[in-house]
Amino acid sequence: MTRTAIRRDFLTFGAPSIGSAEMDEVAATLESGWLGTGPRVARFEQDFATYKGVAQAVAMNSCTAALHVSLASAGVGPGDEVITTPLTFCATVNAILHVGATPVLADVDPRSMNLAADRIEAAVTSHTKAILPVHFAGRPCAMDEISALAHDRNLVVIEDCAHAIESEYHGRKTGTLGDFGCFSFYATKNMTTGEGGMLLASTPEASEHARRLSLHGMSRDAWKRFSADGYRHYEVVEAGFKYNMTDLQAALGIHQLTRLEGFWLRRKEIWNQYQEAFADLPLVLPAEPEPETRHAFHLYTILVDERRSGLTRDEVLVELTGRNIGVGVHYLALPEHAFYQRKLGWDPDRWPNATRIGRQTVSLPLTPRMTDADVAYVIAAVRKVFGAGPVPGASSIPGAP
Ligand SMILES: *Cc1c(COP(=O)(O)O)cnc(C)c1O
Repeated sequence: MTRTAIRRDFLTFGAPSIGSAEMDEVAATLESGWLGTGPRVARFEQDFATYKGVAQAVAMNSCTAALHVSLASAGVGPGDEVITTPLTFCATVNAILHVGATPVLADVDPRSMNLAADRIEAAVTSHTKAILPVHFAGRPCAMDEISALAHDRNLVVIEDCAHAIESEYHGRKTGTLGDFGCFSFYATKNMTTGEGGMLLASTPEASEHARRLSLHGMSRDAWKRFSADGYRHYEVVEAGFKYNMTDLQAALGIHQLTRLEGFWLRRKEIWNQYQEAFADLPLVLPAEPEPETRHAFHLYTILVDERRSGLTRDEVLVELTGRNIGVGVHYLALPEHAFYQRKLGWDPDRWPNATRIGRQTVSLPLTPRMTDADVAYVIAAVRKVFGAGPVPGASSIPGAP
């Protein structure tokens, strides 16, 4: 690759697609004088609930907040164990620590990269209170098995749907399969409010409790205390958190949600293009989606085995970044972090599948903002890094390095 062939601008990993409708709504919100939790949050919650086919959704300022509130609302606390995956973002496990409970890891299935039901079962003890599955990369977990296990052992199920807004499993939507579903609208997620999250609960009581916990533990609709309906006194019922979403964030979310299906189709197209273009490379590619499921195509991850490819994972990260391609690592297994080793005595060798994946994985750019030329550039660069020529049978690719 000659130097001049490297694209001039950096292809930012996970850069969102923000349209004029989002921008106009943000401007209208600023002009409205109501920036905090208000009518736009209420509308976004209703729109999201409708999208998921449920009665209520509770907007939060992050998925981390939604996870914390779900655990608190479920009554998980000191002395309780929560089973989750080592192959996740630290927020999943930190939320468990924030309620004073103990995270217990079960290894992932190497093919799906999701929690394996038999490993969960092996991790259950008399202290287990909840299971916290993560639908990794947007691929739904084996929820039939997880729900059956939870039912048998009387465990709460909290779905971490940060990657899985559009996912479905056996005809049902992720986030509605367990007792709680937690979504992220962080900047790199499949739709964004800059920062933001959403909580779904399986009962109206749990929804109301979650809503209260997200706003200082104040009694219902406390945000309306400044509205034209007249001043309302509120009562503090418990010590809640400051996790409410603002109308500025919801202004983005309302329009991102209407564009989500279009985003998903484009993600699917790019994901499939990568699958085809890398089929002959010395790499492990993601498994195809399972039948009767909908994959959200949040991440496209390749596994780099140095013995097969002659390159280390970190060399691949350096090579691609050097070609102005933003890449990600999802994730170094959580037991690799010294903090968790010290605090919880975790040793990466105990979860060999997650540990190996975490040491081999590279996430390639995958967003609806990418042009065909961007995708072609990434494909050509990845092929070049692994010593392969253009895609066999492909004609000259525009924008290729
Ligand atoms: C992004 C992410 C979170 C945290 O989401 P925030 O909205 O940033 O708090 C939690 N879990 C997983 C798996 C994530 O990818």
